[in-house]
Amino acid sequence: MIQPVADPVTIEQAAALLRSGALCAFPTETVYGLGADATNSDAVVKLYETKGRPRFNPLICHCADLAMAEHYALFSPLARELAAAFWPGPLTLVLPLKRESGLSDLVTAGLDTVGVRVPAHPLARDLIAALGRPVAGPSANPSGRLSPTTADHVHQGFAGRVPVLDGGPCEQGLESTILAVEGDTVTQLRAGALPRQQVEAALGRDIPVAAAGSAIAAPGMLRSHYAPNALLRLDASAPQSGEAWLGFGPGPAHDGPVLNLSPVGNLREAARNLFSYLARLDASGVAKIAVAPIPQNGLGEAINDRLDRAAAPRAAPAPGPGARA
Ligand code: AMP
Ligand code: MG
Repeated sequence: MIQPVADPVTIEQAAALLRSGALCAFPTETVYGLGADATNSDAVVKLYETKGRPRFNPLICHCADLAMAEHYALFSPLARELAAAFWPGPLTLVLPLKRESGLSDLVTAGLDTVGVRVPAHPLARDLIAALGRPVAGPSANPSGRLSPTTADHVHQGFAGRVPVLDGGPCEQGLESTILAVEGDTVTQLRAGALPRQQVEAALGRDIPVAAAGSAIAAPGMLRSHYAPNALLRLDASAPQSGEAWLGFGPGPAHDGPVLNLSPVGNLREAARNLFSYLARLDASGVAKIAVAPIPQNGLGEAINDRLDRAAAPRAAPAPGPGARA
């Protein structure tokens, strides 16, 4: 039987794991990350294998501060403006890679760009600073499954085989927003915890969204992702018999399993609860989860993106399609 690994208790213990080439999951304000030293290819291979993640899907490099990020990525004035406005925080910038900077090629999946972010969670920043190098950190879950927002989720996802630095529940609960910046142009690759409207307000211009399947958005923008075992039925007005209900705002009575993302209809609260409530309803063993409509404004863009991917037809073993009603 595989023995569960011991969790690090201090930042220094977690940094020592990363320094030795081992993996260590760590808290961020978005979701828990599965950390590896981004300059150590052996560690990054271990990361891809542990997650079961396709190697063409590049990893976000978590940096302690802008100075560390500038060592690996080329910042245009626009990129610097975005970093100044939103770092530390839930914004990843995809920027031209500085070659010969020491980053493992596996982190960027061989692309000539790199995704960099300075997380706001104090434990994440202290850990990266203690390591002194960027930490590659995809969400700490087996590829394609729900993202973890507690240390317990990570332990469950990897059956106790990955050590976790426990920082309590994640404040935001949704992955970072990803913007690609090329010179003076900016495109949103993934909706996330920083609403696009907030970035548009700061820059005073509209931000186009990369078309699904376009070359720039392609790596990792997999249609089926964030999937629970149960099928999802989206935009449902009410649950049917045999379904669980994931509500938003005042909801219908139901005699099956029910959780409400935000009874008062608050999108921040809904974002924070999304993955953990999906996991809880999934654990009840229901075959299908009906989900109330979520407005598309602000954080709703990212919440609906995650729900769409969670409902998308799965690769094998195919349990059948989920659908937006
Ligand atoms: P995850 O680690 O699951 O949060 O996913 C990270 C996302 O960032 C993936 O969907 C990647 O495709 C995207 N990403 C990371 N680096 C790059 C890059 N250099 N170019 C385009 N997308 C990137
Ligand atoms: Mg992920």
